[in-house]
Amino acid sequence: MFKAFKYRLYPTKPQARDLERTLELCRQLYNAALQERKEAYHKAGKTVGFYEQKRHLPEIRAELPEYRGVHSQVLQNVIARVDKAFQGFFRRVKKGETPGYPRFKGRGRYDSFTFPQADATGVKLQEGGKRVLLYGIGSLKVKLHRPLEGTLKIATVKREGEHWSIVFVCEVEPRPLPPNDQTIGIDLGTNPNFLITSDGEMVQAPRSFHKAQAKLATAQRSLARKKRGSHRRKQARRRVANLHRKVANQRKDFHHKLAKRLVNRYGTIVHEDLNILGLARTRLAKSVLDAGWAQFLAILAYKAEEAGRRIIRVDPKYTSQDCPVCGHREKHPLWIRVYTCPQCGTLLHRDVAAALNILARSGRVPDRRWARTEPSGMDTAVAVP
Ligand SMILES: [Zn+2]
Repeated sequence: MFKAFKYRLYPTKPQARDLERTLELCRQLYNAALQERKEAYHKAGKTVGFYEQKRHLPEIRAELPEYRGVHSQVLQNVIARVDKAFQGFFRRVKKGETPGYPRFKGRGRYDSFTFPQADATGVKLQEGGKRVLLYGIGSLKVKLHRPLEGTLKIATVKREGEHWSIVFVCEVEPRPLPPNDQTIGIDLGTNPNFLITSDGEMVQAPRSFHKAQAKLATAQRSLARKKRGSHRRKQARRRVANLHRKVANQRKDFHHKLAKRLVNRYGTIVHEDLNILGLARTRLAKSVLDAGWAQFLAILAYKAEEAGRRIIRVDPKYTSQDCPVCGHREKHPLWIRVYTCPQCGTLLHRDVAAALNILARSGRVPDRRWARTEPSGMDTAVAVP
C-alpha cells in the first residue's frame, strides 16, 4: 500500500527562484500541450495522445535550452497531467454530462511539479534526511518532522502561498495490529461534537483548533475591509492564507490522532456512508462540516487498512430518527439533544442514539441488545426502564 509523507522545504532565495521558474516552465508546457490537443480536436477531429506528445519532449528540450534544467520525467508528468484532464473530460462526456473543456492554467495557477520515479532518478535524500537534492534546483533544506517509511516512489514539490513543501509517496508494508473483536458505531456529530460513539463517548475538536478558526474568521473580515490594491490588503491576504494553512494543518492532525485512537481500540468501526448521507439528511451543521468528515473518513479508512481493521459503511437513513431500543421512528427538531422515546420511555441523547443505530445496521451485533444489557459508559445517555 502507498502512504504519503509531506514535509516543509526551506529553499534559499535563489533556490526559491529556481522552483518558481520550474513551475512556470511546467505551466507553459501544460498550456502548450493542452493547446495542441485542442486544435487537433477542433480542426481535424483528431485526438493527440500521451505517447505522441511525450515523443516531442526531447525536441523541446533541444530547442528551448531553459527546459534542459527541468528533469525529463518532470516534463513527462506534465504531459500525463494534461492526459488525465482529458480522460476525465471524455469520461464525463461519455456519461452524458456536459463538462467544461480542460482549462489553461493562468500565471500563478500551477502549483506543483512531480518526479514520478523518484526512487530511480531526480530526487535524493541527503545527510540523513536533513536535505534533499532535486534535479535542476540543488540541495534544499527539508524538515522531516516524522520519519519517512517504506520505499520512495513519487515526489511532488508544492508551492503553498509563500511556503514550499515536498510530498513523498512511499510503498509501505501493512502493519496489522493484534486481532480485536470490539465493534463500535460512530455518528459524525453536530457542533460542538465532532463525533459520538455508540459507547456514549463524545469527541470534540481541540480548543486550539476553535481558537485558530475564530482568528481566521476575524482576519477574513479584516481583509474584506481593506482597499483593493493597497499594501495593507496584501498584508491582510497573507495573514489569511497563513491562518488557513494553520487551521487545515490542525484539523488534519486532529483527524490523524482520532483515527489512530479508534483503530487501536476497535477491530470493526461502523459509520454512515457519506455518499448517501447528503440525500438522507438535512442537518445543516453537518453539511457545513462535510469537507472535514470526508478527510477524516479517508484517514480512518487508510489507517484501518494499514492495521488490518474493518470499516463498515451503512445507509444513514433514519439513523437520527429511530429509537435504538424499540425502533419507534420520529423526527426531532435539530435543537433537541436529549429526549424521551414516547413509545418505550427510554431517555436518549440524539447523537448517541444515532451511533447505536449505525452500529446495529452493521449486522455485527444483535440488534437492540442495549434493551437488555447495560453497556459501560452509556448510562448517562441511555437509561433502560
Ligand atoms: Zn423507544
